[in-house]
Amino acid sequence: MKISVIPVEGLPLIRKGDDLPSLIHARVPLRDGDILSMAHTVYSKANGHTRALPSITPSPRALRIAERDGEDPRFVQAVLDEAQEVILEHPFILSVMKNGHIGVRSGVDRSNIEDGMVILLPPDPMAAAEGVRARIREVSGSSVGVIITDTVGRAFRRGQTGHAIGWAGMTAIRDFRKDTDLFGHVLKITEEAVVDEIAGFANFVMGESHQGTPAVVFRNCTTWKGHDQLYFRPEEDVLRKALCTLPPGYIGR
Ligand code: GDP
Ligand code: MN
Ligand code: MN
Repeated sequence: MKISVIPVEGLPLIRKGDDLPSLIHARVPLRDGDILSMAHTVYSKANGHTRALPSITPSPRALRIAERDGEDPRFVQAVLDEAQEVILEHPFILSVMKNGHIGVRSGVDRSNIEDGMVILLPPDPMAAAEGVRARIREVSGSSVGVIITDTVGRAFRRGQTGHAIGWAGMTAIRDFRKDTDLFGHVLKITEEAVVDEIAGFANFVMGESHQGTPAVVFRNCTTWKGHDQLYFRPEEDVLRKALCTLPPGYIGR
């Protein structure tokens, strides 16, 4: 596997209504088998998943959290509005979103957009990736895998990495179970989260600030077989269960 990693450079500031697949294909002509990794920030801006803070009225809960953590209550309200379930209120809001993604501040961003605006995650990131894939097929004729990414923090380690929040044209997991290792042992556990690995590398190429590189093309990746059950079911998620038993103060009781 000798993979080419091609940053999509020279994209403008993205605005609502922009045809991202066309803008990308005009800069890096996409080929069959390519994997396009795209930052959700630009997908969300192109598709209007943004909010203006002045239009948001904070609830008593948002006011309470904002006061405690020194946040803008309108921003906190935007975060609460994106959450299906709040797991943690303090020292940061950790929430489960409708699509199963668990993340800090519900993935709401204030960077790389004008003052007073916030960027949300796409409400249905899987459908978003599928839509980008279909549009790429229209503009290029190519069958391309798509990963929509976000930069997120991790449990146990400092530092954020790119994670896949939506994908199309591939499975999230490469399943190594039942495969044999070099010594003939049958693997029982290993399911590799390939979409996160690609998202992680893409995130490295994108940068986090003014680089202006919201998309990266991976060419000549191998294909793999597996499944899409990237998220733990709540009953098998040990960490989530542990968080739910934290003493009062963390969840604002
Ligand atoms: P996130 O990880 O999806 O939350 O996005 P980031 O804010 O970290 O941005 C990822 C990359 O996309 C960085 O290189 C940004 O500079 C770039 N970026 C963000 N918005 C735009 C935009 O509207 N146009 C361009 N050309 N690049 C952008
Ligand atoms: Mn983000
Ligand atoms: Mn980022």
